[in-house]
Amino acid sequence: MAHPEPPVHRCFSYMDSYNGDIRFDNVYISTYFCQIDERRRKLGKQTLLPLRKAEEKTVVFPFKPTIQAQEMKNLGKELLGMLPIALLLLLLCGLDWALYSVFDTIRQHSFQQYSFRSSHKLEVKVGGDSMLARLLRKTIGALNTSSDTVVESNNLPCLPQPVCMDARAYWRASLPIVLLVCLCLAQAFGYRLRRVIAAFYFPKREKKRVLFLYNDLLRKRAAFTKLRRTLIIRRAQQQRGPRHHLVDTLHHRCPLVRRWLRRRCVVCQAPETPESYVCPTPECDAVYCQSCWNDMKNLCPVCTPREELSSSAYSDSNDDLKYAE
Ligand SMILES: [Zn+2]
Ligand SMILES: [Zn+2]
Repeated sequence: MAHPEPPVHRCFSYMDSYNGDIRFDNVYISTYFCQIDERRRKLGKQTLLPLRKAEEKTVVFPFKPTIQAQEMKNLGKELLGMLPIALLLLLLCGLDWALYSVFDTIRQHSFQQYSFRSSHKLEVKVGGDSMLARLLRKTIGALNTSSDTVVESNNLPCLPQPVCMDARAYWRASLPIVLLVCLCLAQAFGYRLRRVIAAFYFPKREKKRVLFLYNDLLRKRAAFTKLRRTLIIRRAQQQRGPRHHLVDTLHHRCPLVRRWLRRRCVVCQAPETPESYVCPTPECDAVYCQSCWNDMKNLCPVCTPREELSSSAYSDSNDDLKYAE
């Protein structure tokens, strides 16, 4: 709908972009990506998998049967393009129903029935037995008539005869739209195939692209922890703030409420678990999930001075952060 160009052109333009722009459609956590990660794990270097929540939103796992956040953007665009047609159908159905009810009301309220009855009887009785009387009886007797007229009429043929659309007709009218929505949903999976096909024909290029994605994610994760320091500190302060006496009592007494009052990891906002790390520094109490604590290189950014942070865990000179080759 949104792409008027013929499919062959789109194939070639995808191939061109695939070979020309390394960032183009480079969001898939492919098998090779996992292999790189596994290799780095064996070498004791920093690994990416499992990905953090924020990172998962920017990539696509090709074997997952659900539509993922990254694909949702595309899907949203497609569905938005379908919206006018769906609205038009809705409008037409609404209009149809409105017209039907108007005409039906007219038919019910302007139905009129006329009935006309008339009857008359003429009888002349001529008495007597004379010749004149007999003559008169014969002639005037012929005039004796009687009639009964009943005329029944109504205006039914002049009234509108609206026919209501039945459920099947509605279903038939909306079937193409339903099919279109299904196709939009299926398209997300079709898009994953484009990368598979391109990778089949350009395996070297695919390896280069996956390496780029891996290193890009590594770089972003390193920057993430550095840039997010202010945010982390703010979250830690927020979590420290509202836990008053009452909340604390509730937290200890009732296990049901505890689920809702669980503290969250100050980095990724994952709920606190028994494996979570709580900073032992008095007045700090920042909560970290296991993976975030590893990312922080076992230094709490909330209570560690900035200079100390930048000299150790947060500098790029750390040999852990060698990029994959
Ligand atoms: Zn976390
Ligand atoms: Zn701390």
